[in-house]
Amino acid sequence: MNANPPVLDRATFLSRLNGYIGQSGSPLTVLVVADIRQMGLINGRYGYEAGDRLLGRVGERIAAALRTDDVLGHLGGGSFGILLTRLPSADVARLALNKIDQALEAPISVDGREARIRLGYGLACFPDDASDADRLLHRAETALAGLSASGGHSAFFDKRLHEVVDATNVLVTELEQAMESQQLELYYQPKIDLQNGGVAGAEALVRWNHPQRGLVGPFGFMPQMENCPLIAPFTQWCLKAALCNAVYLDCHCTGLRMAVNLSANVLYQPELFHHVESAMAIWSMPVERLVLEVTESAMMRDPESSMATLRRLAEMGVTISIDDFGTGYSSLAYLKHLPVGELKIDKSFIMQMLENAADRQIVRSVIDLAHNLGLDVVAEGVESEETARELAGMGCDIAQGYFFARPMPRDALEAWLKSSEWSGRNSVQDEAPGNGKQD
Ligand code: C2E
Ligand code: MG
Ligand code: MG
Repeated sequence: MNANPPVLDRATFLSRLNGYIGQSGSPLTVLVVADIRQMGLINGRYGYEAGDRLLGRVGERIAAALRTDDVLGHLGGGSFGILLTRLPSADVARLALNKIDQALEAPISVDGREARIRLGYGLACFPDDASDADRLLHRAETALAGLSASGGHSAFFDKRLHEVVDATNVLVTELEQAMESQQLELYYQPKIDLQNGGVAGAEALVRWNHPQRGLVGPFGFMPQMENCPLIAPFTQWCLKAALCNAVYLDCHCTGLRMAVNLSANVLYQPELFHHVESAMAIWSMPVERLVLEVTESAMMRDPESSMATLRRLAEMGVTISIDDFGTGYSSLAYLKHLPVGELKIDKSFIMQMLENAADRQIVRSVIDLAHNLGLDVVAEGVESEETARELAGMGCDIAQGYFFARPMPRDALEAWLKSSEWSGRNSVQDEAPGNGKQD
């Protein structure tokens, strides 16, 4: 009779893995890390004790799908390590995964409740991917981590992915140090009120004063920052620094409205409200002066949850602005319900609007749509006076772009506010020959 392999603890599993590799040296030993995708939810729903019992049942079901000489271990959390021995080719490993999936198809009953378990699998092969147990396990875990990004069910270790993961880890460590040693700095780009020509506010845009690489823009590190735990302290720092500087600049431009960009990932973190509240409290800043910019694609990643978060922020009195509008899935149905106060038309439409009739028409339509919904419209990427005039003529409320000013450090903004023609000059609209004109 075919006996099922026992479920070993992590240490025993690793020592068996080491022993197996050392003794047999057999090529095409595949190590699989199987991970329960919804483990956090399970613990939340059932409690940790019932979660442990459930894990025990999952282990039994996996064991039942394996061959006697395969090795199974509980690695911790919702993860299991599986050593598949004697495979004729790596592809055959997928058959073993199918068998495990089948064994887990029926729901598992724990304390009278039924749980459905879905596993994700990361696979690594000996000796191609690594020649020792530790590294083989790490490779399989890397393959598993790649699944969260791709959303797939199983993946073999990919050397290129590993290089990306390595580079990301290095960058994240560097970023952590950068935050500690104050290498990150907020630059500020003014926003101009097209209807009266005055300064309507500023947007805070992060820069990294890198000791070797010089000034690095957000595209050089924000994607990695957004996907690591540093994003929460970073957002907290941004809010505090931006509001502190808005208050500092009050002597030149009273009541300057400050816009801070929010990443998709913080939108779903409960600490966000606390961070916003405490930053406002520290600088005694009226809440109406804070604008939070969230990209359309970030909002649409999980519209129901983001709606709840944004509603709470809007109830506090914060203005929510949809950034890069027109580049994501613009769900007009959601737009009606989202508690937003402002649409920011993406610069790709603005920068081409003088030459491209379709872009101009899109810009005009978004301005009308926003106004019909009672929202303000900001145009970003205004690089010429002609574009500013055209936008003013279309009734656009606010503009931002290199034509007015580039993003700059706080002190440069202070000087700009003192001397700029935009601080207290006549309205662009008044001067605009295109004002009110339809094309
Ligand atoms: P965004 O929020 O849409 O910011 C506008 C970007 O357009 C900025 O790029 C700005 O420098 C650039 N820009 C402004 N005017 C013009 C113009 O006339 N022409 C052109 N070609 N570009 C113009 P930047 O500073 O490189 O920021 C890029 C993106 O990085 C931002 O896009 C935002 O999504 C993100 N980002 C920047 N700072 C932060 C931050 O503190 N937190 C978060 N979460 N994201 C940030
Ligand atoms: Mg923005
Ligand atoms: Mg934008």
